Amino acid sequence: MLAAVLHAAHDLRIEEVPKPTPAAGEVLVRVAHNGICGSDLKLLEMGLRATTVPHVLTNHCGPQILGHEFAGVIEQLGMGVNSLQLGERVCIQPNYHCGSCHPCLTGFTHLCQIVTFHGVISGGGGLSQFTTIPASMVHRLPDQLSMAQGALIEPMAVSHHAVERSSIDPGEMAVVFGGGPIGIGVVLGLRARGVTNIAVVEPVAARRSVAKSLGAHTIDPNTDDLRAYLSKCGWLGGSDVSFDCAGIPATFGGTLESLRARGRAVIVAGSSAYPLTTTAHLLQHTEITITGSLAFTSEDFRQVISLMADGAYPTEGWVEHIEFGELVEEGFGALAAGRRTKVLVDLPA
Ligand SMILES: [Zn+2]
Ligand SMILES: [Zn+2]
Repeated sequence: MLAAVLHAAHDLRIEEVPKPTPAAGEVLVRVAHNGICGSDLKLLEMGLRATTVPHVLTNHCGPQILGHEFAGVIEQLGMGVNSLQLGERVCIQPNYHCGSCHPCLTGFTHLCQIVTFHGVISGGGGLSQFTTIPASMVHRLPDQLSMAQGALIEPMAVSHHAVERSSIDPGEMAVVFGGGPIGIGVVLGLRARGVTNIAVVEPVAARRSVAKSLGAHTIDPNTDDLRAYLSKCGWLGGSDVSFDCAGIPATFGGTLESLRARGRAVIVAGSSAYPLTTTAHLLQHTEITITGSLAFTSEDFRQVISLMADGAYPTEGWVEHIEFGELVEEGFGALAAGRRTKVLVDLPA
């Protein structure tokens, strides 16, 4: 079968690899579409996450088949799998967890201390014709959802989790920093929750027009005054909730500065490249809350699947398909250059 294998930084090759067989408790999935994530771009830039020491949860290291946002059809069942059937259409919740650390034991498996993801450090990934995955990491797709929509559930679940973390009420106002796929997902998640006052801060015009088409007001940070907009709309003190979906110093600073007293900041895009800078004085004098948001829970997946089946996640204007052979140039290259927003790779049948 064909797979996109990351060998080292800037060395991603589509090559022939052996088709895997499902072990006990696993299923073999024939992948239909796999989305490219910002974290995949980072992997291509930085290289393998595990080169010589296998990850404890997946027992894998070395060259890595990328891809953690995917949907496909169950092609084969491993021993003991009776919760799924051949031919079922599924999407994958790609996070592995240990089950025995403190977060796992207290019900927060997505915060597992040794968390890793399928397609990041694992045997196999979604950017291949087939991959094997534990049956417990699979969600069924309802008939209303296409396979392409199925491949968008993972990133939309990331955004959904961030909206949940904000505890926002429908009458409150939100500012979203960053109009990429996760920012778009936050806008759609907010709208599905009944929030109507949403502003997106995004320097790229094409991304602003997508956010606008989805019902958000848009702000160009280079020319527009967010504060003036907020007070013009009656949000004198600032926003109730602000989301950092870009993860750079300017957006973290903007996220905190845009809040009213006692407002809540949700950090969806965290980078280890920058220390966050603010002052204890600001925190004390505004009583704002800064909240992190990592990945998703199974409940986020279930809710996004249900909301998507109800039409809450339109894809026009921001999701594009490419062929597998175009992966490096039209996928990774175009995303890195800002020429596309979300790319779904169609795997050859
Ligand atoms: Zn991702
Ligand atoms: Zn754990």
